[in-house]
Amino acid sequence: MRRLFLVLGFLFATNCDATDLYDGKSLTIPQVFYKDTIYTNVIVSLGNVVSVGGGENSSLLDFFDESSGQLFISSVSFSGNIYNNVVVTIANIQSIGGSQSNQSLTRMIVNSSKNSYTRYFSQIRNPNVKLTTYFQPGSNPLWQNWIPKGMNLVAQAVDSTLTYANGMVALDENWGANILQQNFNVATNTQAINILNFSNPYKTINNAPFFLSVWNDTVATQTNSIVNDPVGMRQTPAHEVFHSVQTALANGPSTVSTIPTWFKEGHCVYIGTYSSDYLGFNSYLVDARPWAIQRAKSAGTPNFLLSQIVGYVADYDSYGIGEIATEFLIGLFGIEKSFNIYKEMAKGLNFNDSFQKAIGINIKTFYSIFEANRQTLLLPVN
Ligand SMILES: [Zn+2]
Repeated sequence: MRRLFLVLGFLFATNCDATDLYDGKSLTIPQVFYKDTIYTNVIVSLGNVVSVGGGENSSLLDFFDESSGQLFISSVSFSGNIYNNVVVTIANIQSIGGSQSNQSLTRMIVNSSKNSYTRYFSQIRNPNVKLTTYFQPGSNPLWQNWIPKGMNLVAQAVDSTLTYANGMVALDENWGANILQQNFNVATNTQAINILNFSNPYKTINNAPFFLSVWNDTVATQTNSIVNDPVGMRQTPAHEVFHSVQTALANGPSTVSTIPTWFKEGHCVYIGTYSSDYLGFNSYLVDARPWAIQRAKSAGTPNFLLSQIVGYVADYDSYGIGEIATEFLIGLFGIEKSFNIYKEMAKGLNFNDSFQKAIGINIKTFYSIFEANRQTLLLPVN
């Protein structure tokens, strides 16, 4: 059963009451004791009701007896009535909130997420996507190592309609503008400079004919960012091309622009940092996750609920908390469902409805279980 728990995934309800709740379909169990572990907030589908004992409830906890396959329920609320000492069988486990060890929760999430990423990214689903890269002579050769690897991995692995992606490292805007004029049918130098908007250190232009990720290597050199922000820089190739993948999955940049930044950027940072680990640029656990945690604790971010992290503002950092929340989501539900959110949006649903359709739970439930476990998830794992 423990194995089954781990395979089926986990869900965290906010119910702190010790009484179970049955809604006619699902049974929510605040705490259930199994072997040497107390699992919290477990949701199951019932098989048969074996007996209803009545009387006082005997324990704060439920017990699962592996040998009989029976769950002993101390107290359960159903249709406004309380029933004590009920014995049932379980048809299936829908979800499990966690166990008493905080460290083990975070470890379970990270392990599950990493397994899901690795399974998914070891397969190519979009083999014909064409990557073209442009490197201005004199730019840092590290980019020529990282960018093709990171961009190709993501563009080829994710099941999207992206047919091409472009990467460019430029030292000055005129060189970049020339590339746009020569290769993307941009008519004038002024238009090319406007499209390029070269002040950003790195960015992605996410509409046809571009799907162009741009690195400003002059800014990178001035800020010494490859040395000062090694995790941030190494995750950029997979991160930036994933913005193009998001756009392809959601069928347009205007749809993507409605996604809250915790997920829009958090998903990119997740893909960026997990890909950096996968490609051997650095270690996710040693380098990237602590970096994301530090960002999640930076500026005013701790003052905001995840549900409030929706825009590009200086009040909070969407990227770190977004990565940890995306990891939590993927650890619980698997990486494929995270991509399906965009596919639902492409059908015309808004983000919240797409989340519900793709993930299977209401986004409010996800927000509440994330907040309930937020401090735990911000613990380091090694
Ligand atoms: Zn981004």
